[in-house]
Parts: sequence; structure tokens; C-alpha cells
Amino acid sequence: MFMVLFFNNKDGVMAPATKTLTVYRQKRTGHPTPEPAGATTKRPRKKPIFVVQKHEASHLHYDFRLEIDGVLTSWAIPKGPSPDPKDKRLAIQTEDHPREYARFEGVIPAGSYGAGTVMVWDTGTYRNLKTQNNRPVSMTECLKNGRIEVWLEGKKLHGGYTLFRTKLQNGTGWLCRKIQDKHAGRQTQTGVKKQADTSVLTGRTMNEIRQDG
Ligand code: MN
Repeated sequence: MFMVLFFNNKDGVMAPATKTLTVYRQKRTGHPTPEPAGATTKRPRKKPIFVVQKHEASHLHYDFRLEIDGVLTSWAIPKGPSPDPKDKRLAIQTEDHPREYARFEGVIPAGSYGAGTVMVWDTGTYRNLKTQNNRPVSMTECLKNGRIEVWLEGKKLHGGYTLFRTKLQNGTGWLCRKIQDKHAGRQTQTGVKKQADTSVLTGRTMNEIRQDG
């Protein structure tokens, strides 16, 4: 029998537990990895978090993760998010990750799933911007509908970003785009580039993380 755990938050709204971590765990079974296993239940936070992890695996990419219903809904963005609204960046949805993953930085050993170096490139909180007929649309609904609009408050990334599901990559392909706002444009990118190659968690470069093992 399949059992789903539920818990109440302060508003009395039922939120599903982290049942979606099954795939995450399966992919990591039987291989050595320093990555967190993840708790089974999580109370929703007032301010959900986001994280962007630079991941030097077989191909360099940026893992963009948004906390939705207690887990980190995840996309791999090969080119990383752009601060320029003219750029549409392919974002391939991957398996949900545990919330603890937002603080994971290190080296996944060769032969294990996702082998390579991981840097916490940026992290912070986000706000859901999506409304319909002047009413807020929950992140759960946004995810289901394939239309996400969030305001990021990170150390590198700021302002509005959209994610739209497309038919690319059998429906796992989304497009990530900066919303036109005061944080948009190439000027911001220059600001980002200055600190782009170090971790917001430890200040380390990819080389330093790799050397530290
Ligand atoms: Mn990755």
C-alpha cells in the first residue's frame, strides 16, 4: 500500500511531505556520495529558498532549484540563468532534491551519479509573482501548469524570472528568462561576472573545491 504523509502548516493548509524524493534516492543507491539523503518531512517556510549550483559534471551546467512543497524542484540550465530578458535559456527539469541540498558543495566521486564538482553559485529566498485574475496562484499550481514567475533575492541573482514548460526534451524542457525590471540587462551581468566564479557559501573557486575534495 502506498502511503502519503501530510502535515499542517500554521494556516491549516495541507502540504504533501517529501514523497517526491524517491527518484533522487534511487539514483544515488549503491554509489558513494557526500550528498545529503534528505529528511522525509519538511514544514513549509514563510520564505522559500532558491539555489543555483554550478555543476562540473560530464557537461558543465547550472542546477537551478526552487523550494516548492518542502523539496527543491530542479532544472539543469546548461548556460545558466541570464540577466538579459532577450535570452531564453533551456532549463531541463530533473528530479526533486531534498531541501538540505541547497547547502551542498563538494565533489561527487567518479562513477557515482552526477560525478563532478558542485559549487553553491548563488542562494537566497524567492517570492511567487504569479497571479491570475488578480488572485495569487500557488507554486504547486504554477508547476503543474508549467508557468512559473518568481522574484529572486539572491547574492548574485535579483528580480523576476520566468520558467515556461515547452514540448522540448519530451516535456522536461523549460525556458528560463529574466523579466524586464530594474535588475534586468547587461549591466547586471557585469556585476554578476565579477563574482561569478566563486561560491557564495565558502568563497571558493571550482578549482579550490576540487582540490579540497
Ligand atoms: Mn547537476
